[in-house]
Amino acid sequence: MSNNVMVHQTNSSVMHTYQRLPLTIVKGKGSYVWDQDGNEFLDYSSGIATCNLGHVPDSVHQKLREQLDNLWHCSNLYEIPTQNKLAALLTENSCFEQVFFCNSGAEANEAAIKFAKKYAKDRGYSERTEIVTFHQSFHGRTGSTMAATAQEKIHQGFTPLTPGFRYLTLNDDGALEAVNNGTTAAVLLELVQGEGGVNTVEQKWIKELSDRCKAADILLMVDEVQTGSGRTGTLFAYEQFGIEPDIMTLAKGLGSGFPIGAMLAKKSCASTFSPGTHGSTFGGNPLATTAGIATLEILLKENFLENVKVNSNWLRNQLKTLQANGEAIVNVKGMGFLIGVELKAEAGSFINAFREKGILVLSAGPHVLRILPPLTTTKEELTQFIEVFQAVLAEMKETTV
Ligand SMILES: *Cc1c(COP(=O)(O)O)cnc(C)c1O
Repeated sequence: MSNNVMVHQTNSSVMHTYQRLPLTIVKGKGSYVWDQDGNEFLDYSSGIATCNLGHVPDSVHQKLREQLDNLWHCSNLYEIPTQNKLAALLTENSCFEQVFFCNSGAEANEAAIKFAKKYAKDRGYSERTEIVTFHQSFHGRTGSTMAATAQEKIHQGFTPLTPGFRYLTLNDDGALEAVNNGTTAAVLLELVQGEGGVNTVEQKWIKELSDRCKAADILLMVDEVQTGSGRTGTLFAYEQFGIEPDIMTLAKGLGSGFPIGAMLAKKSCASTFSPGTHGSTFGGNPLATTAGIATLEILLKENFLENVKVNSNWLRNQLKTLQANGEAIVNVKGMGFLIGVELKAEAGSFINAFREKGILVLSAGPHVLRILPPLTTTKEELTQFIEVFQAVLAEMKETTV
């Protein structure tokens, strides 16, 4: 969060790892949340791209209740039918054939990092000890995923970092040359950098990167923790780039708010993880996989993703009109309903102004406003959002002259 964001003081015994906003949300339904005083907010932050179907979606609610009555937890020592069903849904609707389940985005990326190391070993590439990641990326907060995240502010205080990561620059031709230096086992990247400023990879660049990886048997691993689960207007963002990655990681939107993560692999490399090589107590838990199944069934409904495309294009065009009509907006970035509005001013003051007018939005770096509507948002809500944006812009103009 940027410096301008109002931060409230707390005496809570919860460890102070977050700069929390002065708002306590106690209820959510659809596109709206309510605070403890009953104030209503249009939630265009979606729990950071997690509540993609809005809050407490009916069908997921229903299926979770049924599962609550039957079985909460079952060890991975036994067959778990809901895991098989969710894995089938994921693989039938992607280029991947096998799924490993875990509980979060960082864990999914940890799995991918371990996977890449073993893949190189199994293939006899003893000199391939590095994973290439990109500046301004975000891959998580655990030891290895923090080291994979090429942002100094994330590393501060936590050296020595887990070794084995090499950072290059997104959309840079030099990076294409540098990727295969003989030590690279895999490349890990976000197709739209979520936390790092809503930066989208260029189609030509990623295609070239993918070709070079394939030619050298370097694993291409996409972190779709934020871009997956319909967020960009297709089930997964990679579909829009004409590439087929070897590995994909998912979390955030996959369980509509119920914690779940996944790592998917193509058949050609999936046998890298054999019994005993990786695991998780909770990974693919019956409740979590039930939430995943119910979520995917909605995302895969006829016209659902088509609607996301139509509505997100409408929003993008409206934002571009706002950009053309004033000085405050520098750029409108992103894909589908993962939208970044780059501002001249600090994003924090805009976030506060939006909240005062009943709308929740986020930032991605100091000058980018990140807008993450639920994929189910209506045209009326989008219109309301644009009207409020106009009012915020007018207010900001007044305070700066
Ligand atoms: C949020 C995020 C993560 C980390 O996910 P957690 O569930 O918080 O561990 C990793 N990668 C990307 C792209 C993310 O947006």
